[in-house]
Amino acid sequence: MDLGIKGRWAIVCAASQGLGKGCAEALGGEGVNLVINARTATTLEQAAAELRSRFPGIEVRTVAGDVAEPAVREALLSACPQVDILVNNAGGPPPGDFRNWDREDWLKALDANMLTPIELIKAVVDGMAERGFGRVVNITSGAVKAPIDILGLSNGARSGLTGFIAGLARQQRLAGRNVTLNNLLPGAFDTARLQKTLQAASQVSGDLQATTQARRQAIPAARFGDAKEFGAYCAFLCSVHGGYITGQNLLIDGGAYPGTF
Ligand code: NAP
Repeated sequence: MDLGIKGRWAIVCAASQGLGKGCAEALGGEGVNLVINARTATTLEQAAAELRSRFPGIEVRTVAGDVAEPAVREALLSACPQVDILVNNAGGPPPGDFRNWDREDWLKALDANMLTPIELIKAVVDGMAERGFGRVVNITSGAVKAPIDILGLSNGARSGLTGFIAGLARQQRLAGRNVTLNNLLPGAFDTARLQKTLQAASQVSGDLQATTQARRQAIPAARFGDAKEFGAYCAFLCSVHGGYITGQNLLIDGGAYPGTF
């Protein structure tokens, strides 16, 4: 299937590895020019070099820095000649007990996982609407639908973003101009983040292998997701075929969410 987005420009945040990188690879494979970001310049440049060598027909630009910082967002927007596609992503907030979190912890989580995507969206959607094409994909979490108690900062901040997107996506000045906004909700994907979570979870038993196996077996698909399949879904949402999908929360979790709806 031709996704019809060759030559478009995308900003993909937090994309030197994991799910963000999966999205950048899938978009690059469709001929989309990329501006990618992550905090660590060395690994970001490695990812960019890999993308350039795999997809020589596209341009790949990099902006190193924390996407939660206004100056980094400005640099991202300046590096992209025209934002047709925006993939919002950032690291997830740390786990813990809400009794130990203070206002600063909450502001940090809200900043990274709610306000940063909203600021970037604010900067790009009206231009997208004027041009009659725009795709925004926010990488959130399956925890938005089935909260994980130790991830309270994530549950809270991402739910705030989810509520905001639900309203914004339905504005006719956006949806009626072929601008879509959707959230992609990963379950357990085999990335560095998952490895860290599994290591933390196995600290009590001391058995990482058993913890990993138990987590895998709790998923109907009996495996962890691959960033490539996550990226493919993202690219489809960003394609010309995705114009009638907006305001949705789309789970990719191997059937882990147990509800009917
Ligand atoms: P990952 O493998 O750890 O990759 C995170 C990427 O984001 C790296 O490229 C990292 O590079 C970059 N990054 C992190 N914080 C950033 C920031 N503030 N500004 C710019 N770049 C930043 O993580 P992942 O598994 O792909 O997860 C991506 C998102 O999905 C996270 O929010 C995570 O909580 C969520 N999620 C993941 C899973 C899963 O199973 N993997 C499940 C549910 C939700 P630098 O460190 O160099 O910045």
